[in-house]
Amino acid sequence: MKKKIFVTRRLPSAAMELLEKNFEVECNPQDRVLRREELLQLVRGRDGLLPLLTDRIDGEVMEAAGGQLRVIANYAVGFNNIDVPAATARRIAVTNTPGVLTDTTADLTLALILGVARRLVESDKYARAGNYEGWAPLLFLGADVHHKTLGLMGFGRIGYAVAKRALGFDMRILYHDTRRADPELEKQVQAQYVDRDTLLREADFVSIHVPLTPETVRFMSTREFSLMKPTAYIVNTARGEVIDEEALVEALKNGQIAGAGLDVFEHEPAIHPALFPMDNVIILPHIGSGSVETRTKMGLMAAENLIAAFQGKIPPNCLNPEVYNPL
Ligand code: NAP
Repeated sequence: MKKKIFVTRRLPSAAMELLEKNFEVECNPQDRVLRREELLQLVRGRDGLLPLLTDRIDGEVMEAAGGQLRVIANYAVGFNNIDVPAATARRIAVTNTPGVLTDTTADLTLALILGVARRLVESDKYARAGNYEGWAPLLFLGADVHHKTLGLMGFGRIGYAVAKRALGFDMRILYHDTRRADPELEKQVQAQYVDRDTLLREADFVSIHVPLTPETVRFMSTREFSLMKPTAYIVNTARGEVIDEEALVEALKNGQIAGAGLDVFEHEPAIHPALFPMDNVIILPHIGSGSVETRTKMGLMAAENLIAAFQGKIPPNCLNPEVYNPL
């Protein structure tokens, strides 16, 4: 008998087809995030779940699913929406989708760096409004990106991929991470390890690439913004909660920093209303991994994790392989 899988929102068709070939699949019929009570109801009796980063999967959801639940295959590399210890305690495997979205998210990071520095959104709005009257020496002057200093907070897969791109812009690359990277890796992208405060003081662009963990919540707050140069920009394609949004608004209002490129928000989907009128802020609706190719790959990867798990194997992207240890 096929295992029962619940998908919390429709995925690209190739992924849905692979799931449907292997499982009895039920999917959220609505194109919206499920409400908590709907989620608790719809997970009942499922052997596997395929949630998104917008679904909080905690012990209550696992209990609601029932004792047959064996795998939670998250459709994201970040897994802060899943209570992994609660899953481990119930011997439920949790998987994510690392790697396949690295380059796509790094591309978007560069787009934000370039977009905010060169005032792309603002200029586009101006031209569309019919205001353009010809080339002018002082029209929409922005900041250069090339030869500037990039500060990468987090030098994992995405941080490194951003460094590779920045090298092409002749940027000086600083990074901070929980530990220093392999010197060979540093050499490849000419990146220099520095402490957090040095990075904040010296970078012209601070780009966030740490996961959301208890240590990184509000990692960037009043003190951190006060260390940045008034000409520097902050870019966040990681998780919104890493930035104290109130402190960011203050820093922008006070001219402590020059601008921000944001793909994620502290209270997503809510966005601090003070950000909307600011022309030196680019606001994107969390599209870091949003290419057709990558969203398809993420779906196939999540499906492969489920398939492997129900074939009795340790899924390739298992975050808690200890659940497979004998009791
Ligand atoms: P990764 O390879 O795990 O890299 C994260 C790096 O940050 C690791 O080297 C990690 O070090 C480091 N780190 C963790 N805590 C830190 C701290 N307190 N201070 C300094 N460095 C710290 O992850 P990734 O694949 O690059 O993805 C990074 C994050 O991007 C994901 O967790 C996800 O939330 C986000 N993301 C967002 C989008 C989007 O749509 N906007 C798309 C993809 C990913 P350790 O290994 O030692 O912990």
